[in-house]
Amino acid sequence: NHALKLRSRPDGMVKRDDFEIVEEPAREPGDGEFRVKVEYVSLDPAMRGWIAPGKSYVPPVELGATMRAFAAGIVDSSNHPGFRPGEAVAGMLGVQRYAISKGERCFKVDPSRAPLERWIGGLGMPGQTAYFGLLEIGRPQPGETVVVSAASGAVGSLVGQIAKIKGSRAVGIAGGPEKCRYVVEELGFDACVDYKAGNLAADLRAACPDGIDVYFENVGGEILDAVLAQMNLFGRIPVCGLISAYNATAPVAGPTNFRSILVNRLTVRGFIVFDFQEKIADANEQLGAWHAEGRLKMREDVREGGLEAFPDVLNLLYTGGNFGKLVLKL
Ligand code: NDP
Repeated sequence: NHALKLRSRPDGMVKRDDFEIVEEPAREPGDGEFRVKVEYVSLDPAMRGWIAPGKSYVPPVELGATMRAFAAGIVDSSNHPGFRPGEAVAGMLGVQRYAISKGERCFKVDPSRAPLERWIGGLGMPGQTAYFGLLEIGRPQPGETVVVSAASGAVGSLVGQIAKIKGSRAVGIAGGPEKCRYVVEELGFDACVDYKAGNLAADLRAACPDGIDVYFENVGGEILDAVLAQMNLFGRIPVCGLISAYNATAPVAGPTNFRSILVNRLTVRGFIVFDFQEKIADANEQLGAWHAEGRLKMREDVREGGLEAFPDVLNLLYTGGNFGKLVLKL
């Protein structure tokens, strides 16, 4: 087995020598266990938080431990009654070639319905994140305006498409003309604002003439401030991520427009996808149905280069170098 282990806690962006690849014999599965040959590893913005010290929603990856990751692969040997060799699975399998699982938080997936890598993307955790954050917290109503940042990405791309299914107006915020064109022309959003063009407030106002009812927050910083200034009365802000600050090396200031929360009586609520575990089967069923009907488009950005490439590929997320759900093919 080849496994990527955490060697040191990074300062700022991750570096190659924060990790090391360790070669060890691939263990045979014990009683009630099965072994997966991992084909695709998911790169998630949250990974930067998982290797940082200090309190978060999960304990940090320990130094010397295999890097935590969602991944998808094929069962290659099994002593577990529920999983047979040859079956495709996705779950928390780690950044490694062979993973042993007892089946906890590991799901069988159907590669005839969608390519394997999509089950760690739009049909997996990022899709569930969009679904729960938007529908449970954002609660978009027909005719309302929903804005989402990181709109071309794994989560954001689905947020806008689900908002459209619910009869809302969907407006994305993304970096660069190519991503914005994709968001409108391919994904069917009503508009997309290029925050790198330098006129964020004015462009957002033009794209949202009736103000903003729901802001699905993925980024934080200046984008959050610009949106806060245009929120409508009783608006909702599901706080899903704050990617602009994940590599910060100094404390990050809060929004200067905090007052908008008071005067507009906004509901601002953070959430983690795992909060909705009891409804996960419903989410998967609905996402799968919309996908089968062609109402949810999904795009994966598949990178090669093996475990060595992991740190560089991960960093693409924080510079906008990815275009779609970022995965590493092993
Ligand atoms: P994406 O596929 O959206 O990739 C990340 C994107 O973020 C980049 O492509 C880039 O897009 C944008 N970005 C990066 N840095 C900045 C910046 N400084 N300013 C503005 N935009 C930036 O990733 P995901 O869909 O996987 O994740 C999106 C968000 O959802 C993240 O914040 C993540 O932490 C969060 N998340 C939260 C979960 C939860 O349970 N709460 C679960 C899963 C994800 P661009 O080129 O457009 O700038």
